[in-house]
Amino acid sequence: MSSLALYDTLTRTTSPFVPLKAGEVGIYLCGATVQAPPHIGHVRSGVNFDILRRWLTKSGYNVTFIRNVTDIDDKILHKAVHEEAPWWAVAMKYERAFTEAYAALNVLPPTYEPRATGHVTQMIELMETLIERGAAYAPGNGDVYLEVRKLKSYLTLSRQNVDDLQSAADADETFKRDPRDFALWKAAKAGDPSWPTPWGAGRPGWHLECSAMAHAYLGESFDIHGGGLDLIFPHHENEIAQSEAAGYGFAQRWLHNAWVTASGEKMSKSLGNSLQVHELLKTVRGIELRWYLGSAHYRSMLEFSHEALAESATAFRRIEAFLTRSVEILGAVPTPVVSDSFAAAMNDDLAVPQALAGISESLRVGNSAITAGDKAAIATSANEIRGALEVLGCDPFDSNFAAGGTSDDLTAALDGTIKLALEQREAARVRKDFAAADAIRDGLIALGITIEDTAQGPRWSITRSESK
Ligand SMILES: [Zn+2]
Repeated sequence: MSSLALYDTLTRTTSPFVPLKAGEVGIYLCGATVQAPPHIGHVRSGVNFDILRRWLTKSGYNVTFIRNVTDIDDKILHKAVHEEAPWWAVAMKYERAFTEAYAALNVLPPTYEPRATGHVTQMIELMETLIERGAAYAPGNGDVYLEVRKLKSYLTLSRQNVDDLQSAADADETFKRDPRDFALWKAAKAGDPSWPTPWGAGRPGWHLECSAMAHAYLGESFDIHGGGLDLIFPHHENEIAQSEAAGYGFAQRWLHNAWVTASGEKMSKSLGNSLQVHELLKTVRGIELRWYLGSAHYRSMLEFSHEALAESATAFRRIEAFLTRSVEILGAVPTPVVSDSFAAAMNDDLAVPQALAGISESLRVGNSAITAGDKAAIATSANEIRGALEVLGCDPFDSNFAAGGTSDDLTAALDGTIKLALEQREAARVRKDFAAADAIRDGLIALGITIEDTAQGPRWSITRSESK
């Protein structure tokens, strides 16, 4: 089997992955700022890094996967004012919405999911270290800043020049030694939540929490740090600055997933509202949405359209139909097998599009084997397809999907209802009552359901999703 090579944002090259400790991998993924329900742009990193995690696990590594929850932030405080609710109730509500979305998409729960507010002690310890080492200062107003000019290196990930950098507009500049210094800690404002520190009461700056929590759970140095492209600057640069100034080795490799785009742009909030995960789960099942979100290479933009999602779901149902047929013919659920071509694709910086081409080929061979009645060949294809789907988190035999919530139950009920209508249409055709048959078909089309007549019988899909 080939060995894994991964891209590194820091070096801009793909290189063999060698963990710090043989057989173990530590991953830190920046999680959600819980201030709104998740749209698909928010959960793409969850899906992409879940595929990485599953592939590492399949390759024999013991993976420790940490994904944080930013549960205190300006945006959460603004939302709390807007919703007339306590900030912590707002944070909890949206944290649950994210947890539900991840579960519906079969994203494995992290090994640990630390919340910022639960790690103020670790943040204070880190700030003490940084002040002791002369890298940070507390000017006396309750803020604590990192002194950018004292860093040995800065902005290596985004490859910017520190002299070109604008002010970090994160705090009152009166107290900063240099406008580019950024806030580790922000003094309490009246009415805002705060925690006591040796420098006064306040709350964490966003960047500090990830350095403190990565250190707490993965140690001074760990293998992989991940997040969306938009986090490279300033968030990840500032995490590096804090952690390196504290003397940590920090992340050995940086992986960034690209965005979900709409008309070529990063998804805006207004558009994002209609593309919330729970809204889309009314049109496709969780397993289908996951298949779609995971289908592009993690470093490629995924241009969203309802048509592309529907097409992707239809393609997935064809794979499921083959697996169902194989179970009917062979009388057994396929055993997951990782094929050489799938392993080669995944080891090449998680080349999912190539892996999908391999699955299509196995599907073609498998369907031909059904026609030819070649049971051994059916089994080989079914086993390889299931092996691939398992790593991609889209194994239809995975009980997580069955337990995935109401949308699957709803889909099952809908599926049964539509099949019943199709059987009635078929019966009408047999008795040559074409008016009745057409009326059933037209009625389904009017509901936004497309009927496709295939060799295996009629198949349906939902086409209408853009109208209200
Ligand atoms: Zn982070």
